[in-house]
Amino acid sequence: MKKIKNGMTYRGEMIYLTKHLIEQQCLDKKEILKVIKIHIKRIDTFEEMKELDPFKDIIKLKKLNDHCSDIDIKLQRALKFEKNPSFNIWWFRVPHCKCNVRKNFQLFGKEEKFINLNCPLHGII
Ligand SMILES: [Zn+2]
Repeated sequence: MKKIKNGMTYRGEMIYLTKHLIEQQCLDKKEILKVIKIHIKRIDTFEEMKELDPFKDIIKLKKLNDHCSDIDIKLQRALKFEKNPSFNIWWFRVPHCKCNVRKNFQLFGKEEKFINLNCPLHGII
């Protein structure tokens, strides 16, 4: 684990909070650390999901995917934003998800979601 200002790298991924976000949300060191810890949990969950097979391990994958939905909520809370599913940005970036990342980012802040029916996690239930 290599420490950097306002963030760190973990398992090859950079976790970083911009100065603007920290100031805007008035986050102190303890609160920044809380956000980083949630990201560490997210990265661990993503790594675990990457190892699984979307056909053979679908039950386990869906269970881990539920944890990822909680991560969006936890992050919003830790960043002192109102809980709002329209601003969730991690659910469509989980490993094995086939929902379009670019289109879902375009829907940021809107109630609609772009679901690929062939997605093993969000498509057919
Ligand atoms: Zn999906």
